[in-house]
Amino acid sequence: MKSYLEKLRSRRLAVTPQRLAVLAALETLADHPTAERIYQEVRRQIPAISFNTVYKALEVFCQKGLVTKVNPLHEIARYDKTIEEHGHLICRGCHRIIDLVWNPPPLTSLSPETLNGFLPEHQRLTVWGLCRSCQESQNIKED
Ligand SMILES: [Zn+2]
Ligand SMILES: [Zn+2]
Repeated sequence: MKSYLEKLRSRRLAVTPQRLAVLAALETLADHPTAERIYQEVRRQIPAISFNTVYKALEVFCQKGLVTKVNPLHEIARYDKTIEEHGHLICRGCHRIIDLVWNPPPLTSLSPETLNGFLPEHQRLTVWGLCRSCQESQNIKED
């Protein structure tokens, strides 16, 4: 609990039991949980907490750089306790998001011609595919 306290204080955020519980849930649910999943986990400790409170805490954490948001296109936001630059492997079978500790070379080093005049500001590698267990079970939900 102490490190969660320090995390909040380092970002000048008021320490509340709700915020502490949300941070703890993010730590417990290692696999890039949705706000809904975090809410379910926090409710085990604070049954009276509302979804909105959990959601607002997550958004504040994102603004303050305590967590990051993974936004695969056309999907519900997933939250990430890892704020260091890293890529994601997204399984199209079970929708698991796996951290990839490897970063491609920055696009800013490419010529403007190659980039079609696009000005890159932030890049994060996202790769879709099938995780090991989905390959093994062949249990693929096509959508
Ligand atoms: Zn999978
Ligand atoms: Zn991640």
